[in-house]
Amino acid sequence: MARRREDFVPLDRWGLGFQGPLVVAGPCSAEGEEQLLTTALALKQIPFVGAFRAGLWKARTRPGHFEGVGSKGLPWLAAVREKTGLPLALEVGTGAHVDLCLKHQIDILWVGARTSVNPFAVEDIALALAGTDVPVLVKNPLASDFSLWVGAIERLLAKGLRKLAAVHRGFADSRERTYRNAPLWSIPQKLKDWFPGLPLLCDPSHMAGRRELIPPLCRRALEFPVDGLMLECHHAPPMALSDGAQQLTPEALGHLLKSLAWGGPRASVGEMEKWRREIERIDARIIEALALRMDTTGEMALTKRAMGLGVEDRARRDVVLKEWLARGQDLGLEGNFLKDIYVHIHRESVKKQEDIVRERASLPLDKDSCLQ
Ligand code: PEP
Ligand code: MN
Repeated sequence: MARRREDFVPLDRWGLGFQGPLVVAGPCSAEGEEQLLTTALALKQIPFVGAFRAGLWKARTRPGHFEGVGSKGLPWLAAVREKTGLPLALEVGTGAHVDLCLKHQIDILWVGARTSVNPFAVEDIALALAGTDVPVLVKNPLASDFSLWVGAIERLLAKGLRKLAAVHRGFADSRERTYRNAPLWSIPQKLKDWFPGLPLLCDPSHMAGRRELIPPLCRRALEFPVDGLMLECHHAPPMALSDGAQQLTPEALGHLLKSLAWGGPRASVGEMEKWRREIERIDARIIEALALRMDTTGEMALTKRAMGLGVEDRARRDVVLKEWLARGQDLGLEGNFLKDIYVHIHRESVKKQEDIVRERASLPLDKDSCLQ
């Protein structure tokens, strides 16, 4: 399928009043009319918020958890629109969900991570949308499979949909220790390169899994850059029936959105100084980490000598390099850059270890050694 910038309608031409970066905010799940209205009325006061989200059909990984109120919540959402005027965004998992949303004039639909992973479900949704120009957000599939994400977008394009955007919400990854879903920024970067013109949002709520990790992820996303954010927001997060740990109150969300740099006015001289100090602090940490690594390999050289091992083990070097590349690329660093740095560090480390092994080898055994 040819990939052209004109395949995609920019966010500000979706006819929903979006200007600048788009923020879609609202609770993970619709739980009741009052809950939706309380949250939506508070969100309406935050100028950054462009659309209200909520989940009616919750595709839970395991049964027995709250699976959403279903179509019963559609009239509640109509009340939200009437009282706030905010465009509404809803998750769809089947063609039948799409039909219901179209009947109730839902403004934006989104395909969740547990649906974009399944070509049958995406095709069913695309078929139900054929002939409409409803905006659709496509979250990345749970699995870190770039082609599945591309395929879901292609299925919608093939049915004539043009108001499309991707949502980066992180990937299920058993190696991830910090976030609920691993950011793996190189994958959304590849998607941006693959589909020029496709707007990209980030969903730091599902990526983080814990509210305290959300602000730095928002900053990272805006630097990336993305064209907007999807954020979960509940008027009383501890009472939420799903994803309570990652939902922000409208107040916290308002503060957060206000604190972010939205590519507005250029940084002042004072701000530049702040950035320079920050970079100096990071550089100092890099140097300390390098020194610690050298000291550690020096200690290791003594063990190698005691065990009669050679300094350089090429198989081990390749394993370390592979891990180095995998970690770095997950964090959005370029492969050749990572390799160059590694080669320098490794060369210096081998040199130091050889010096140590040679120097120590020529020394007599320690006079105080209890082995004598
Ligand atoms: C959601 O947005 O509430 C949701 C279930 O997200 P995801 O599909 O990204 O897990
Ligand atoms: Mn959720």
